[in-house]
Amino acid sequence: MKNPVYNRVILKISGEALAGDKGFGIDFDTVNQIADEIAEVKKLNVDIGVVVGGGNIWRGRSGIGMDRSTADHMGMLATVINALALQDSLEKRNIPTRVQTAIEMRAIAEPYIRRRAIRHLEKGRVVIFAAGIGSPFFSTDTTAALRAAEIDADVILLAKKVDGVYDSDPKLNSDAKKFDKLTYKDVLNMRLGVMDSTATSLCMDNNIPIIVFDLTQKGNIKRAILGENIGTVVKE
Ligand code: UDP
Repeated sequence: MKNPVYNRVILKISGEALAGDKGFGIDFDTVNQIADEIAEVKKLNVDIGVVVGGGNIWRGRSGIGMDRSTADHMGMLATVINALALQDSLEKRNIPTRVQTAIEMRAIAEPYIRRRAIRHLEKGRVVIFAAGIGSPFFSTDTTAALRAAEIDADVILLAKKVDGVYDSDPKLNSDAKKFDKLTYKDVLNMRLGVMDSTATSLCMDNNIPIIVFDLTQKGNIKRAILGENIGTVVKE
């Protein structure tokens, strides 16, 4: 059996990925499939922190005419809904899971406390980080970068519905070229929409590699953790 090449990972799951083919809301078949894959990876003894997005329910920038901070607060709440759905699915698979929120809502989940999160990981629990970093004007990609730095993760697994980073949208351009490797500077200079620039810079400054891969391909989370060549790697 192959050994994992990473001991501690942050898995970033966008809201879009949780919507499956529905495009909006939560598709439970998709959530269950993700939970199955996480359960499979847990057998490899890898510490897994998950950052969930919220775009399947609400994005701050959808609130046209709204106060941006209020719209972003709504987005952060959306991530909590997703986090609870994933937690439920993981626990049905007997995977001990804790949700930690960056905005306190103690009746629902633990507040984010770094040392406690690390302790959960050491005890083999999956930790789901919800409510972003707790501040408006940021994204859950930035949350993934920040939490990865805080918990000393080896890599960010950036789960998408496309199999890597392209020079143009492969859905619109059949000649779009896929990159196997990129540097952080490439992503920033070429304005590739892998992650927003705040998140990319944070990864660059802290030397956290990012693997962009297709979550809809079954088994890809495990393949990424085993070091197989899937998707696009962004690093120094
Ligand atoms: N958000 C925020 N601060 C954060 C993280 C998220 O204000 O630290 C809000 C923001 O409005 C964002 C929404 O939550 O649009 C959902 O997050 P995101 O768009 O990153 O989700 P994804 O695109 O991954 O589904």
